[in-house]
Amino acid sequence: MTNQDGPQASSDPGVSAEARLVHAGRRRSLGEAVVQPPVLATILGSVGEPGAADYGRAGNPTWAALEDAIGAVEDATAVVFSSGQAASMALMLALTTSRDKLLLPADGYYNARVLAERLRPHGAAPVFVDQSDLPGIEREVASGRAVLWAESPTNPLLRVADLTWLGRVAAAAGAPMVVDNTVATGLLQRPLDLGAVASLCSLTKSASGHSDVLAGAVVTRDAELAAELRTWRTLGGGILGPMEAWLALRGLTTLPLRIERQSATAQAVAEHLAAQPKVAAVHYPGVHAATLALARAQMPRGFGPLLSFEVAGSAASADSVIAAARLIVPATSFGGVDSSWERRGRWAGETAPPSLIRLSVGLEPAADLIADIDQALERVPAAG
Ligand code: PLP
Repeated sequence: MTNQDGPQASSDPGVSAEARLVHAGRRRSLGEAVVQPPVLATILGSVGEPGAADYGRAGNPTWAALEDAIGAVEDATAVVFSSGQAASMALMLALTTSRDKLLLPADGYYNARVLAERLRPHGAAPVFVDQSDLPGIEREVASGRAVLWAESPTNPLLRVADLTWLGRVAAAAGAPMVVDNTVATGLLQRPLDLGAVASLCSLTKSASGHSDVLAGAVVTRDAELAAELRTWRTLGGGILGPMEAWLALRGLTTLPLRIERQSATAQAVAEHLAAQPKVAAVHYPGVHAATLALARAQMPRGFGPLLSFEVAGSAASADSVIAAARLIVPATSFGGVDSSWERRGRWAGETAPPSLIRLSVGLEPAADLIADIDQALERVPAAG
């Protein structure tokens, strides 16, 4: 028994994504640990021509295990980084060389926009687009050498973009398309099958799932791009520590169970919120009629743990709702086992409506969360 990837783990198309997550990246040699241990060495024995993992900034067996597991879910190669932003930076640097512009969603993750602005002098000019404005995007990609950076569902408005259509338009113009897949993860949505050259995921969120590790990954089937990303990682040093890689690998094994439960709970919470008079709008793919069919086609297994809603009232009203929670933790980020929420507009650079609360649904039963939300909403004065 010498199969380093685990039994049929990463390549057999008959093995489900869930089973691959459990087995990929685990060494299965007799006498070796069945559970991948973190390898804390910064050097590995080597002689002659340098190899891929002689020195800890170029490679590490624990990253390799994590990359096997993440890549196995999307039938692709994964390159892991120290955070989602480090992954985004490497991807922007790798793709924008010899490109004029980088199209990004105007309502997507705001730090991607800020990063693109910062990188303007080093590559392409950022252009912020409405992902539902299909003719506008078609015009933009057709004029000049573009990179299309899509995000679906978006953070924090949970808008669903038609990735197949965007992929087709990008391919027709010779523009590489990237999808920020952080909200869905590769388990719920497979952007590479829809025309993306690369799919980006902040593993900090649902993928590792316990709010105790910062990590990011790019997944691609383009060997040249994967090599380029590794080079940026080695030279730029945006590497993942072995302990973080180990935590992420451990968290990933339970991703299918967590995200299935969280998707069901988020749907129940979103439907409940939609019926509340003190809630002006609810944003979740499962309650947005206009894109429901598209969302089901792109994410057939569920829509994930993240939703947002607008309190009928001011930013102060939303703050008082957050402060009144007994169970839901007032905190940023999402995808953890504890439900948490924040008023998104408190971040400089965020374009979300002022009274928008972004809620990350954890593993608590829906009834507990709904009871907590209802008592917190009582703080908002009735309209009229
Ligand atoms: N992409 C999205 C959609 C995110 O929400 C985030 C973080 O919130 C990132 C990327 C960046 O990930 P990280 O915080 O791991 O750098």
